Amino acid sequence: MTRRTYSLEFFPPRTAEGVEKLRAARRQLAQLKPAFCSVTFGAGGSTREGTLETVLEIRGEGVPATPHLSCVGSTRESIAAVLAQYRAHGIRHLIALRGDMPSGTVDAGEFRYANELVAFVRQETGDWFHIDVAAYPEMHPQAHSPYEDLANFRRKVEAGANSAITQYFFNPDAYFRFVDDCDGLGVRIPIVPGIMPIASASKLARFSDACGAEIPRWIRRRLEGYGDDTASIRAFGLDVVTDLCAKLVASGAPGLHFYTLNQASLTTTIWQRLGL
Ligand SMILES: Cc1cc2nc3c(=O)[nH]c(=O)nc-3n(C[C@H](O)[C@H](O)[C@H](O)COP(=O)(O)OP(=O)(O)OC[C@H]3O[C@@H](n4cnc5c(N)ncnc54)[C@H](O)[C@@H]3O)c2cc1C
Repeated sequence: MTRRTYSLEFFPPRTAEGVEKLRAARRQLAQLKPAFCSVTFGAGGSTREGTLETVLEIRGEGVPATPHLSCVGSTRESIAAVLAQYRAHGIRHLIALRGDMPSGTVDAGEFRYANELVAFVRQETGDWFHIDVAAYPEMHPQAHSPYEDLANFRRKVEAGANSAITQYFFNPDAYFRFVDDCDGLGVRIPIVPGIMPIASASKLARFSDACGAEIPRWIRRRLEGYGDDTASIRAFGLDVVTDLCAKLVASGAPGLHFYTLNQASLTTTIWQRLGL
């Protein structure tokens, strides 16, 4: 069996205060010895410099760091420039995404889908990068059907993706089914579950609506029942998410990728409870 990969995700902070907060979170999270920390990339290159700066800072702290790269709203020339910049810094792992255009934007750029980005990265840089792509066990919200979404996932793998990280989910069966379906299509790259710790009921509901992740009714009802009692929400969320992770790992998931939202405490507690 290949080694499991436990990793963390951050977004590039937009303010000096955010930079400091993320540094403090990272000091705590570095003790977990993650396989890597990834840093998101805003659509149309809106966080390009912030992504690279954050990646370099993490690397300077002795932790492997991986930039995301999203292609929507970008030209081939601008993506080639980002790839050249990543290469010049000796970065060899990236997470390749389509991204989402901010509403009201008209120019979608020269890439329509992530498979085109993966193909472009391979064409420009050969095998230089290990490429991760996104996977959706509960289906991407814009897909017409789970079957089409799966076929589109396969396109990314055929274009040269090495592994994948999923959108978060709370129903492990959705993940196991997705992995089985991939296997049935001959798609056998590692598919690492993305994990969202629960910090706030309202934020979770908002994110989940936007990205198509289902909050099972029993979880939603319990969260609603806690009202403004943040401590109970966090305690319940820790139990639910730790159980989910334990099931995933026990059933052979090739790792876990935590959406930290630049916060250390929930991820640290889950990680320690799992004994990773
Ligand atoms: C692990 C992870 C990290 C992320 N990081 C970022 C980030 O850093 N920055 C950011 O902006 N967003 C990020 N996102 C969000 C992501 O950009 C959105 O979910 C986006 O809507 C889809 O991106 P994708 O790469 O999965 O797109 P795609 O794989 O291109 O899929 C998008 C939709 O198009 C369909 N589709 C795909 N290919 C084709 C095709 N050839 N023909 C027809 N239909 C097709 C798919 O079925 C799907 O419905 C991340 C998501 C995940 C899961």
